[in-house]
Amino acid sequence: MKTLKASVAAAAALALALSVAACGEGGDGDAGSKITIGIKYDQPGLGLKTPDGKYTGFDVDVATYIAKELGYEPGDIEWKEAKSADRETLLQRGDVDFIAASYSINDERAKKVDFAGPYLLAHQDVLIRADDTTITKPEDLSDKRLCSVTGSTSAQNVKAEIAPEAQLQEYGGYSECLTGLENRVIDALTTDDSILAGYAAQEQFKGKFKLGGFKLSNENYGIGVQKGSDLTEKINTALEKMVQDGSWESYVQKNFGPANYKNEPAPKIGVVVD
Ligand code: GLU
Repeated sequence: MKTLKASVAAAAALALALSVAACGEGGDGDAGSKITIGIKYDQPGLGLKTPDGKYTGFDVDVATYIAKELGYEPGDIEWKEAKSADRETLLQRGDVDFIAASYSINDERAKKVDFAGPYLLAHQDVLIRADDTTITKPEDLSDKRLCSVTGSTSAQNVKAEIAPEAQLQEYGGYSECLTGLENRVIDALTTDDSILAGYAAQEQFKGKFKLGGFKLSNENYGIGVQKGSDLTEKINTALEKMVQDGSWESYVQKNFGPANYKNEPAPKIGVVVD
């Protein structure tokens, strides 16, 4: 009898411990708990890890705002690099609580993860050398050497519709394409205009590159969460508030202003533009 009582008590204690742990993990921001957020590390203006170990960009500001609404202070955030091809896996494995990394909402990804948002509408474009006169319209891309990133919608769109005939070099991150563009090993880097504007404005590339100005696709940026997570709704509430209280606009100006990126107005939460 005594043993049974003891084991019942132990089970109850264990259940309590588990629920407390789950609560901390679940994002109610108990004192001392942390939240892990996936971002890009090499996209100036969106997600950038600076040489002195700071994190900057629109996605970083949006993620910090969401974390705050979920009960986490900036000091409670652990940033993790989320490369394009790794995003679904990071979420499925529970390595991150959510992802804010120029992450377009699409059907294929939505089979594996859930999305809150959208919180930004971007368009696929090309970054070319400033002296290039051979690429003036999307059709010109067909016989060119293009560069993009594995696991991105940008690479998929090139293969499926934009320029299936073109040579496509795929790297792990967009920044890896820049040297090739500079050295004339590739003719165009293609991805979202929001990302390309950030590269073009970087001090070391000033005057070297230009954007094509082609709106090749609609990229609706969402916040990725684990499938079935109760964070989706909470994050949508946070995003609505972020737009309403003017934070969205101030993050846009702060992060896209220097790159002269002309962004679209704030999207309506729950409305994905095809
Ligand atoms: N927004 C596109 C995507 O989610 C391209 C940018 C990126 O690779 O992060 O694939």
